[in-house]
Amino acid sequence: MVVMKFGGTSVTDRPAIERLIAIVRAQRQADAQEEGGDARGPIVIVSALSKVTDRLLGIAAEAGAGDIEGALNNLRDLRARHITVSDVVTDGALRQPVLAFLNHEFDQLERIVQALGVLREVSPRWLDTLAATGEILSSRIVAAALSSHGIEGSWVDARLAVVTDGDHTQAAPLFPETTAALMQQVDPQLAAGRVPVLGGFVGATREGVTTTLGRGGSDYSAAIVGACLGAGEIQIWTDVDGMLTADPRIVAQPQVVPHLSFAEASELAYFGAKVLHPATIQPAVARDIPVRILNSQRAEARGTLITSQRPPSGRPLTAIASKKAVTVVDITSSRMLMAHGFLRRLFEVFEKFRTSVDVVTTSEVSVSVTVDDRRRLPAIIEALSEFAEVRCEHDMAIVCAVGEGLQNEPSLAGEVLLGVGEVPLRMVSQAASRRNVTFVIREADLPGALSQLHDRFFAPEPAPAGAQ
Ligand code: ASP
Ligand code: MG
Repeated sequence: MVVMKFGGTSVTDRPAIERLIAIVRAQRQADAQEEGGDARGPIVIVSALSKVTDRLLGIAAEAGAGDIEGALNNLRDLRARHITVSDVVTDGALRQPVLAFLNHEFDQLERIVQALGVLREVSPRWLDTLAATGEILSSRIVAAALSSHGIEGSWVDARLAVVTDGDHTQAAPLFPETTAALMQQVDPQLAAGRVPVLGGFVGATREGVTTTLGRGGSDYSAAIVGACLGAGEIQIWTDVDGMLTADPRIVAQPQVVPHLSFAEASELAYFGAKVLHPATIQPAVARDIPVRILNSQRAEARGTLITSQRPPSGRPLTAIASKKAVTVVDITSSRMLMAHGFLRRLFEVFEKFRTSVDVVTTSEVSVSVTVDDRRRLPAIIEALSEFAEVRCEHDMAIVCAVGEGLQNEPSLAGEVLLGVGEVPLRMVSQAASRRNVTFVIREADLPGALSQLHDRFFAPEPAPAGAQ
């Protein structure tokens, strides 16, 4: 059984939902063929229509500021957009109940927004109630759309199926309770040959209070559902072909990475490969469920597969991540030798000002770190200056070459560094995992260095002999 998650751009309008239906239909046909009979599933999980969560949070902010008129105007827009999209439910008898549902939800939102506007306060609990509406509505529409296109869809209210703690806007799933709830809500639908459709991002506490799993949480929902029900595969349908070998805004012809280990995906995401946040798929990977990233606008593309381990690819590197607008902070102990306790004091300063550091290198008397959040840098420099000399260099960039091959080929790290040619390296680090080599250069050098490195390690494969 497969879990298919569709992001906001994959459900944003009628054509997008029609593509979703075609993709689900193809999956059902493939499953039926494989099982030689009736297909079970898939389970479909959807995000809110593209940008709707942002709009809902904006409406909450307006209500909190007492701007009831503004909030109601925006709600009217959202209502109209959802009603238009529900045209995808072509069967009138199915569309009527969907419209009634949408109108009922929006009527209720209007009342909530009015009340919050008078109170001028939006608690995290109410914020979740508002934000969750996007997925509740999109899932209801998609379930009916499937049914009206000949695939029996069945709407499952995520608030009855995903049980979380009460940490509003950032809730964590309770796995045993969620498994039990899913078996009750989803299993009977699957057994009856229907396609269950749930909103991602949304859950509820044991007491039934609506929660959300954090921004971008629909991927997390897919992993939770897949892990709890022991799915065979989780598909994340989005609007790109998969994880790329380098940032397409910098490198002319990056390629799709066909297969990544979970650890590689995590290292890449850390430095800016934004397709999916690997932490969100951790529950699936922990249970050895493969996760596939696919493009709903080009369903024929192979996408990127992420598994806990992966077979050797025949290529030394897997991908190169990069991050711009980084600041290097050099911290030199004012005493001649590195007194013990120096590192502790130093990192306490970053901790105190809640600023995370990405790359760290040390020598006998000095430590260099990179930060990308400069908001508290002046305060940090002042605090560090009490016991060290501090120097900052802005407009730097991090390059992080990732590959399982780095563990086994001792000379590879050196080759990577040579691969950037004459560009001066400001910091160099290889982590204990030995799955990456990371270095810091001037931002101005990034386009050249990255392209050169990419050409060296990702030359397009020659067409096989005899190919057309
Ligand atoms: N709609 C939610 C968000 O925009 C969750 C998601 O799309 O994954 O954050
Ligand atoms: Mg998303």
